Amino acid sequence: MHIIQVAAELAPLAKVGGLADVLLGLSRELANTGHRVEIILPKYDCINFREVDELTIFKQIDSQFQGKIYPSTIWSGKIEGLSVYFIEPHHPRLFFNRGCIYGCKDDRQRFLFFSRAAVDLMQEIDEPDLIHLHDWHTGLIAPLMEDKKTVLTIHNLAYQGRGSYSDVEKIGIGKKQAARFKDDRNPKRLNFLKSAIIYCNAVNTVSPSYAKEILTKAGSKGLYRTLHRHKEKLTGIINGLDYTYWNPMTDPYLPAHYTSREKPESEHDFHTLDRKGYLKKILREKLMLDEQHRPIVGCIARLVPQKGVKFIKHAIKSSVDKGGQFVLLGSSPDPKINKEFHQIRLKYEAHPHIALFLKHQEELAHLIFAGSDMLIVPSIFEPCGLTQLIALRYGTIPIVRKTGGLKDTILDVDEDPENGNGFSFTKKSVAEFDAALGRAMTMWFEEPDRWRHLVVHGMKQDFSWKHPTKSYLALYESVFKDSLVLH
Ligand code: ADP
Repeated sequence: MHIIQVAAELAPLAKVGGLADVLLGLSRELANTGHRVEIILPKYDCINFREVDELTIFKQIDSQFQGKIYPSTIWSGKIEGLSVYFIEPHHPRLFFNRGCIYGCKDDRQRFLFFSRAAVDLMQEIDEPDLIHLHDWHTGLIAPLMEDKKTVLTIHNLAYQGRGSYSDVEKIGIGKKQAARFKDDRNPKRLNFLKSAIIYCNAVNTVSPSYAKEILTKAGSKGLYRTLHRHKEKLTGIINGLDYTYWNPMTDPYLPAHYTSREKPESEHDFHTLDRKGYLKKILREKLMLDEQHRPIVGCIARLVPQKGVKFIKHAIKSSVDKGGQFVLLGSSPDPKINKEFHQIRLKYEAHPHIALFLKHQEELAHLIFAGSDMLIVPSIFEPCGLTQLIALRYGTIPIVRKTGGLKDTILDVDEDPENGNGFSFTKKSVAEFDAALGRAMTMWFEEPDRWRHLVVHGMKQDFSWKHPTKSYLALYESVFKDSLVLH
């Protein structure tokens, strides 16, 4: 099958969150199973183009925008063997020369242009069997390519992209088509994600539980009616984890490597599980934490309300009160939350058991995943979540709230001692979260053998892209079987 993926992020070039990892992991596994995959991405100025192989100018294309024609240069290159097209618009507003991926006042205009240019580019390359769109940034491609087979993946329903009739007119979408994706809450506005939900042949979220949650009034983020009308084409496929990138045995960011092996296979085997203890020591040295018999509780997250900010704040002191140490790596686009965490950081600046890093840092993230004993993921909602899967792979026990993809991947060991792989809580209550954290701490201190068993079990589980890719292929195929699409 020839598949084109269109998205705003792609790891490792342009990454804000999980979307970037999905693009790389899914595309690579599709390519490994013999499918032809191409990716279309904006040419952000913040991409490190040294990471792109065979970068070359592919061609110039013209796109209609606000009644005028603007050229774009299309670059092509390879990332880990995958073909990527980068769109560089020559619009006076230099849409992708902002030193960032999102967060500009005119994000709507930037991705409107990107969508139009992606459609124009797709007319110039071999016709694909299927176009896979991701999130609201690419949502308007669906009505523009109504006659093509399209699939939409919703990575996070909280972001929908809204605009006006004149916005979508700019890229050639007429009033009649646009009227179909009026925002459910404010019919004067148009909803870009809704346009893809309506016009795509299939829609999925990134976990089965999240697919169910978005059909509830509270979870639907204003799209209750739309999602119910189209629920027969809505499914959930859990994200995989890129096991070549996230591998404690080969991770280039780690100063030592390990596997789940408890005993060495030979006298030259230096990769047994106890090396994780060595990385814990390195982590402490790096963060200037005291070297004591204490578990390290880690947290790696965007600091936004979705991630359960009140639980994260609570965990800082509570982890220490319970005899542990706490490490946070998080950055926030929200100035209020940012300020709050900066104040907390100042308060604990020289604390022997607390280290807070308020920035995005890939290398440190890897060391925290490896050197911590536990990772908290107390999300209010979580479409899939990758950090709990990375934690499992690195032998770090996840403590999660039972929501969305966290519910689908983490089973509480106290509920199911045989198959459990972490700790979980249900209610959005600090007391419940604290109890789960307490249970984890107690097991770490009092039942080290059981803890080790839990670590090994989690490391051996398979959350690679193998299974999800099969599900995506089945979804792609269903689009061809089911040619009669109910709009
Ligand atoms: P989301 O996409 O909602 O941010 P996910 O759990 O799906 O959440 O993916 C988060 C990804 O971003 C993970 O790979 C995680 O390691 C990474 N990440 C989050 N915050 C940071 C940070 N401050 N520094 C480095 N990596 C981070």
